[in-house]
Formats: sequence, structure tokens, C-alpha cells
Amino acid sequence: MELVNGTYNIGGVAISDLTAMAGLPVYVYDAAVIERQARRLSQAFSGFPHRIMFAAKALTNVNVLAYMRTLGVGLDTVSIEEVHLGLHAGYKPSEILYTPNMESYSELAQAVSLGVQVNIDAISVLERFGHDYGNSVPIAIRVNPHIMAGGNDRISTGHIDSKFGISIHQMRHVQRVVASNRLHVNGLHMHTGSDILDADVFLQGAELLLEIAEQFPDVRFLDFGSGFKVPYKPDDIGTDVELLGERLAARIQAFNATRNQPIEVWFEPGKFLVSEAGHFLVRVNVIKQTTATVFAGVDSGLNHLIRPMMYGSHHEIVNVSNPDGTPRIYTVVGYICETDTFGWDRKLNEVREGDVLAFKNAGAYGYSMSSNYNARLRPAEILVKDGQAHIIRRRETIDDLLATQIKISM
Ligand SMILES: *Cc1c(COP(=O)(O)O)cnc(C)c1O
Repeated sequence: MELVNGTYNIGGVAISDLTAMAGLPVYVYDAAVIERQARRLSQAFSGFPHRIMFAAKALTNVNVLAYMRTLGVGLDTVSIEEVHLGLHAGYKPSEILYTPNMESYSELAQAVSLGVQVNIDAISVLERFGHDYGNSVPIAIRVNPHIMAGGNDRISTGHIDSKFGISIHQMRHVQRVVASNRLHVNGLHMHTGSDILDADVFLQGAELLLEIAEQFPDVRFLDFGSGFKVPYKPDDIGTDVELLGERLAARIQAFNATRNQPIEVWFEPGKFLVSEAGHFLVRVNVIKQTTATVFAGVDSGLNHLIRPMMYGSHHEIVNVSNPDGTPRIYTVVGYICETDTFGWDRKLNEVREGDVLAFKNAGAYGYSMSSNYNARLRPAEILVKDGQAHIIRRRETIDDLLATQIKISM
């Protein structure tokens, strides 16, 4: 988002044009930012064979998935529904990794029949899979390295209490299951959490996975997951992916020198690719002065953007309607009948009823976590690409709310 001559624009399109086109509230994604982030990663990891797989759960609109594919980015999915969306978007099964958790066995079997790369994260599933498929279908194994990492405990996945992956201490057992079923293990995977700033955490995990890989001669890829942190505030820093790439390169090259076939290193960023590309635009319905603060109440809430309420994430807020207004302190809240505070004590250019506010870092886990709570309709989505705005999802209607309900006679 840029301010040019007193007018904010996204990807070169004035915000007033975007809101005229799709109404409010609306999610807007800037393709150029997605491309910048994808290029930055492949540049950072150019010192070794690698593949970037977009974690679809961050932003599942099929147009965004299709755009990722044009950038040479594969797809990381966590449900069969995401696999279907990926195929619908034009992905080939071979470009999709399926990493579910606590999935039903029939769902796993469906993924196999669709031809995607499956990633197994429980020993019981491994046993059943080995019995049914033997070495006819290659699999990856999700390892839990027991590394405590990530922004907070809601988004950490690699620690000792986590439900994800097979414990690194159970690898002997895994090897027994693999050997007795002659399973074909072609990949090893880990994902230790989200918002991981420190490159050392990735390197520590990589080291563990490389050690395990020595025991699996058929492994052709190591998936180091994701969790790359992006800046949320003006003075924030993100994960230094260039430093990580540099330090990994020597290690991977040395490892590959010991293998017949070089391994490929995969990453599956969600947030890194789309967080900064997205803005969520809302309208201010009510300004309410109380004894404690001044509330700016907007035409949205935790039904559209739940991250601040769910795990305390920070989204910068900008009053795009009044760039020259005197800065004042506001508490920005939603319209849901439940406390849904987007941010306390935010300094915004004077906010008036009717103004448009923009939430930054709204590309990842924004729309994809939205709901119809309070029977509110979900917003539209716009993709701005090459200076053109495209509506890629229309706003819902009352008919959408009723579409799946079955009325019985009373
Ligand atoms: C959520 C998730 C990701 C993406 O995490 P980000 O922090 O958004 O980069 C990657 N891999 C798996 C398995 C995930 O569950």
C-alpha cells in the first residue's frame, strides 16, 4: 500500500476504486508482493537444489493458488479439500504435498488415489499404510524434532507436547515398520511452528533431519517446513532467509557429496509468501467515546479477521480516508456480539464515521480463517495484478447462508 499525492493505492489501484468495485469490507491482495517474496526465497536458497511449496491454508483462493503455480511454487496442503482446490487451480498431483494431521484413513487413501505426495505423521498410520500399499506408493514421514520454536504456544508445533509428527526418539520403531513393510520413504519432513525469527532454529532442525536421512537411502527430499517470520510493525524484523540459505548451502552440499542422488530441500511458507501482500479494508460504522477510550467500531469483526483475538497477532491499522488528519488514540473494535478488539491504543489519523481503515499483513490466515459467526456475510476478495484489479471472490449473500440449510416442517 502506497500513499501518492494524498491518495492510498494498492498495486497502483486507488483504494477508492477498489471499494467502489467490490464494496466493503474487502480483502485485497497485491500479486507483485507475492512475486517479490517468492523470488526472495528462491534467491536465498539458490545455493542448493530446492523447492518452494506454498502452504495453501494461509490463503486458499484458487486464483492465488494458480498464480503461485505461474511463479514455479508448488503446493503444501493439510486436507483433502485443499488438494482438490489445488488440482482445480491447475496444479499437477506431482506438485502437491499432502501433510494432514489426525486425518481419517479413507482421506489418506483418497490422496493416494489422486496421486499427490503423502506425508505420514503417526506410527499407527504408517503400519496400516505399509500393510495396504507396501512399497508401491512412496511416502514422506513427518518427524517431530522437539524443538521449542515459534511466536507463541498456539502456533508452535515441534515441542514435546505437540500432536504433530512422529517423535524423533521413535525413529528406531519407524525403521522397523518401514523395513518389515518394505515401505518406500522418499522424504522426511518437519515443521516446528510459526513466526520463528532465529535462523539457528531452522539449522538445528535441519541438522536433525540430515542425521535421520542417513538411515533412509531412498530419501530424495527433506522438507524443513516453514514458520518464517515477517515484519508486523514498522521497526520489526523478519527471519533472515538469506543468512539461512547461506548457512544451509554448505551443509547441504557436503551432505549431497555423500549421496548417489542429491537431495532436494523443500520449504512450505504460508505467511512469508502472502502476509504482506494482503490488506483488509473496512468501514468505520461508529465512533464511541467512553470513559476509558475512544472506540472506532468497524463493519467487520472476528468473523472476518480472527488472528488478533485468537492468538494476539498484531496488524498495523491505517486510516486511508484521512491521511492528513491529526493523529489520535483509538481502540479499534468489531461489530460482533462478543469482545472482538483488533487493537488497543492505536495512533490513527483522526477517524470519522464512514472512513475506511486498512489492516496490514492480512494476506495470510485472514479470509481462510473467516466464518459466518453472527450470521454475517463473508467479504469479497480482490487480486491486483499488473495494475488491474480483479474480483476473485464475490461477497456472500443471504442465499449463501441458506444454501446448505434444510428446512423441515414444524
Ligand atoms: C501452517 C503450516 C505451514 C505454514 O506456516 P507459515 O508460518 O504460515 O509459514 C507449513 N507447513 C505446515 C505443515 C503447516 O501446518
